[in-house]
Amino acid sequence: MAVKVLIIEDEAAIRDMVALALAREGYEAHQAESGEEGFSLLNEVVPDLILLDWMLPGMSGVDFAKRIKKDPLCRDIPIIMLTARGEEEDKVRGLSVGADDFVTKPFSPRELIARIKAVLRRASPMAADEVVEVDGLALDPVSHRVRAEEGSLDLGPTEFKLLHFL
Ligand code: CA
Repeated sequence: MAVKVLIIEDEAAIRDMVALALAREGYEAHQAESGEEGFSLLNEVVPDLILLDWMLPGMSGVDFAKRIKKDPLCRDIPIIMLTARGEEEDKVRGLSVGADDFVTKPFSPRELIARIKAVLRRASPMAADEVVEVDGLALDPVSHRVRAEEGSLDLGPTEFKLLHFL
């Protein structure tokens, strides 16, 4: 399943550039022009990560992040803030509302993708396709195989996700 990324950014040029970089990486990009539009999209799709512009018309990026973190269904979705400001004080404020990382504009698509990968790795080993090992069981997200001491088990994707989650 493709990694889903929600981009909330009012500048069309940046949104398009980001969407293109995500598509090249094989990610599924969902775009919103405002925090309000972002919230309505969250009713249809649960993204693996949110790219959030700091300066938005209407609801600001900070207010959006605050609301997300209060929502039990969405609060675990990692957030990377896109900011034109590099000031220390703003970073502290962003982190205090739950942003996982920052990318300062102007940024290159390569830098952005690298940040996204790092945040996804921290947030969910499954998204990073890493083998998870617990108590003699090894879970491989790519092959959906589980290796135990007695041999390996083949599980369906749903059973695998359940076990991975547990
Ligand atoms: Ca903006």
